Amino acid sequence: MKPMTRTEMYQRLRAHQGQWDLIVVGGGATGAGVAIDAASRGYDVLLLEQSDFGKGTSSRSTKLVHGGVRYLEQGNVSLVMEALKERGLLLRNAPHLVRNLGFVVPNYDWWEAPFYGIGLKLYNLLAGKYGFGASRILSREETLERLPTIKPEGLRGGVIYFDGQFDDSRLLINLVATAFEQGATLLNYAPVAELTKDAEGFVDGARFRDVETGEEFEARAKVVINATGPFADALRRQADPTVQPMIAPSQGIHLVFDRSFLAGDSAIMVPHTSDGRVMFAIPWHGHTVVGTTDTPIAEASLEPVALEQEIGFILQTAALYLEKKPTRADILSIFAGIRPLVKSGEAGNTAALSRDHTIRIENSGLITVCGGKWTTYRHMAEDCVNQAATMARLPDRPCVTEHLNIHGFHPSSEKFGRLWMFGSDAPLVQHIEESEPLDGELPYTGAEVVWAVREEMARTVEDVLARRTRALFLNAQAALRMAPRVARLMARELEQGPEWEAEQIASFRRTAESYLPPLVSEPRP
Ligand SMILES: Cc1cc2nc3c(=O)[nH]c(=O)nc-3n(C[C@H](O)[C@H](O)[C@H](O)COP(=O)(O)OP(=O)(O)OC[C@H]3O[C@@H](n4cnc5c(N)ncnc54)[C@H](O)[C@@H]3O)c2cc1C
Repeated sequence: MKPMTRTEMYQRLRAHQGQWDLIVVGGGATGAGVAIDAASRGYDVLLLEQSDFGKGTSSRSTKLVHGGVRYLEQGNVSLVMEALKERGLLLRNAPHLVRNLGFVVPNYDWWEAPFYGIGLKLYNLLAGKYGFGASRILSREETLERLPTIKPEGLRGGVIYFDGQFDDSRLLINLVATAFEQGATLLNYAPVAELTKDAEGFVDGARFRDVETGEEFEARAKVVINATGPFADALRRQADPTVQPMIAPSQGIHLVFDRSFLAGDSAIMVPHTSDGRVMFAIPWHGHTVVGTTDTPIAEASLEPVALEQEIGFILQTAALYLEKKPTRADILSIFAGIRPLVKSGEAGNTAALSRDHTIRIENSGLITVCGGKWTTYRHMAEDCVNQAATMARLPDRPCVTEHLNIHGFHPSSEKFGRLWMFGSDAPLVQHIEESEPLDGELPYTGAEVVWAVREEMARTVEDVLARRTRALFLNAQAALRMAPRVARLMARELEQGPEWEAEQIASFRRTAESYLPPLVSEPRP
């Protein structure tokens, strides 16, 4: 199979004759999932992403493959069961990217151990054969052993349960590769500016542009799927300006700290913050990630910015549980994402809005799929393609993704050491002769940059530093320091000149600004 490059994608596009079976707009978890599902059934698929794959919410999650303990408390048992099954399938189909992580609910009040102990037993029971490990009550000593840096004053013990953790944008690029291998054509930097309609007013295609060349294209399809997440209403309005909005966008932010704030291999789960939400402190890629908030916002943007009060809230809450209290000066990166929550009539507290997915067939024939969670992307895609196939009268073909390995599948990728997340691609990355770390504070080397350009359709310095590696999300200062070398390596691969390099570095600097903690805006030498 040819490498996954933009040139190859455009060759597929130009060679394609007639109508596509499906055009998918949006290259996040939902869109990539739909592309895999449809292509693996043998349908003809074109996916169009306006920016980079995963630029939206799908690179900005808490990185949990989970059933959602919180939804159990809300009594949404079917949602939890569905997500627990999907958690199990994802571990089976992408074992190189999903790992089992212990979550400890620390107890400072006498009633917490029995209360959370019972709830988490139920969580475990609901997983059935897809279980990740039995939950149990921990003594104070066991809790401190698992969480050596938790605040010890008043600690009575804890309850441990097990859930999945992953790297969202790496899984996403592996989903894109899987769809490509199944025959789909997927383009990044190809915004859909307009939906086209047939004589009866039904959506029958899309007009889009190649951001790099400015060339405009028009493609026809039997059905168009709107998988634009928080941006879903904008595309719906393209098809029918009179539709009522269905998305209530809600922002969540995470703060990233040094690993020393959360020593040990377990995460902390706080079931009730002062604003009634769940908060996590999680070990991830050698750092500590703490989040998240849930703030209703008026409109979605591609690069959401954390609000001052969100930062303050996370710092305050973390300080209640961590012995070493994190301050603004300790923040290495801040990232914000937007939940594409589906309105359920009254828009009030977004924490209570539906996390279930929604598939809406508009009068124009446009199919919108949104809501849900990263964890349930496969199931969302299955439902969506079932609906699309019926509507477009495609030949009836069963979904095969429950048993479809994701690109990079490897049963024991730990053996690749630092490159474990590349799974079966790791030996190929190791062969690239660029093994010097790009910065003293992060482990990434030039080999990952070269690989990202040659095999993973990375087109900009930001694609490499934010999504193919996670440098920007882990340490924004380090990422800024890495940018010039990344630009140089990419320019060599893409046959670009010094002007391109300078423009890329400047553009990356602008993006990275909002990941830096407030008050610190220049890279430290
Ligand atoms: C803070 C936070 C934490 C979360 N944590 C978790 C978690 O731990 N576990 C979990 O399971 N779920 C989690 N979620 C939910 C999960 O991340 C989302 O449900 C999921 O990523 C949504 O994916 P999506 O593809 O629908 O949207 P997106 O990832 O936003 O993708 C939509 C894409 O459409 C593109 N697009 C928009 N308009 C156009 C256009 N006109 N033309 C072409 N492309 C277009 C955008 O650029 C974007 O890339 C979290 C969400 C948030 C906000």
